[in-house]
Amino acid sequence: MLDWDGCVAVNNRILSDAAALIARHLDRVAIVSNNSTHLPDDFADVLAASGLAVPRERIFMAGVEALRHVAALGEARVLLLAAPKMRRHARDLGLTLVREEPDLVLLMRDARFTYAKLERAANALRDGARLVVANADLTHPGPAGRLVPETGALLAALLACVGEQRAMHVLGKPGPLLFERACGAMGVAPRDAVMIGDNPATDGEGARRLGMRSIIVGAATGLRMEDLLPPVVAPLALLRSA
Ligand SMILES: [Mg+2]
Repeated sequence: MLDWDGCVAVNNRILSDAAALIARHLDRVAIVSNNSTHLPDDFADVLAASGLAVPRERIFMAGVEALRHVAALGEARVLLLAAPKMRRHARDLGLTLVREEPDLVLLMRDARFTYAKLERAANALRDGARLVVANADLTHPGPAGRLVPETGALLAALLACVGEQRAMHVLGKPGPLLFERACGAMGVAPRDAVMIGDNPATDGEGARRLGMRSIIVGAATGLRMEDLLPPVVAPLALLRSA
């Protein structure tokens, strides 16, 4: 299982060492991402452009799973803070999106987050709406080393207004949902899977809780994706002639 941002891709551009690793293990790779702005088809398209045929059925994302979770709850009126693409997908799943008097506030990474949205969401929670959050990451790595503020940063603003929410439900890593769905789709037990990611608090901790092994690459360990590829071994004939 591979994390996406900072592991497989940065700014949805595939990293070359990750592409080599995926190509080598193509039929036993799943993507497990806290992304809440894109759909599995988007990641499958990015992978396909690098020649990697990973079907969307093996791509698990916090945003889509959060929408499915809320859709399964039934007829709730939902105040959804999310990218336009995710709002369209929510309507496709039959969610009733409202601006006022929601039963439930669903928070994802919303690059158009505003003071007015913060005000509406805070008052909805104050008035008793439930809170569902795609993921609690504060940032993820962007291009040229820049920070991309994540859903957790928006959540911090919301909780600053209303205090900790006892009934808050966070669906992404390190929670079990994405890992369990990936294990189910791949037909493997957690103990037979390995999670490769760059975030010890989500990829590492989430795997540990389920009894899954993890390999953490990037700044936290200094390990690189390249280190997970087998070494290039010169053919014996070349060594003899050298
Ligand atoms: Mg990551």
